Amino acid sequence: MNKIVFLDRDGILNEEIGDYVFRLEEWRIPEGSIKACWKLKNAGYKLVVVTNQGGIGKGLYTAEAVKLLHQKFQEASNNVLDHLYYAPYTDVTSKSLMKKPGSLMLERGLAKYNAKPENCWLLGDAGRDIEAAQSIGVKAILVPTLKETHHPLAETVASSVLEAAEYILANS
Ligand SMILES: [Mg+2]
Repeated sequence: MNKIVFLDRDGILNEEIGDYVFRLEEWRIPEGSIKACWKLKNAGYKLVVVTNQGGIGKGLYTAEAVKLLHQKFQEASNNVLDHLYYAPYTDVTSKSLMKKPGSLMLERGLAKYNAKPENCWLLGDAGRDIEAAQSIGVKAILVPTLKETHHPLAETVASSVLEAAEYILANS
């Protein structure tokens, strides 16, 4: 049975800067994130990025910029990530269900890899990440980088992506 760890992007795979990250010079991978990804991958998890990129819908940057930064992480990590979903919409352009806390990106991942939600996890740093996962029965871990330091629906809170990965391995 396939299993997935869904990864929010900003705050998890690159450092949260309090604004849209779309320039290469602002792309910094947090300490331990690549190691955490490999621990999960070696334990049999598919790694699927689910990221809101409303800056595309606002015209601040293009989908190509998102793909370029994704490629940057892939190069740095020897291609540890399996798939990328991004929601380019803003509330102004669309009420898309892809946009977290909507769960459509996660549901597409479950369908693509034929995985059951109860075998899957999500790592994120925002309430909308936790809510997207919980709404379809995927367990979620909050790794705070923003104002949210806890969430009632989070399985636990971890101080780093590596700590979150270790929690998953100890509890699955
Ligand atoms: Mg985030």
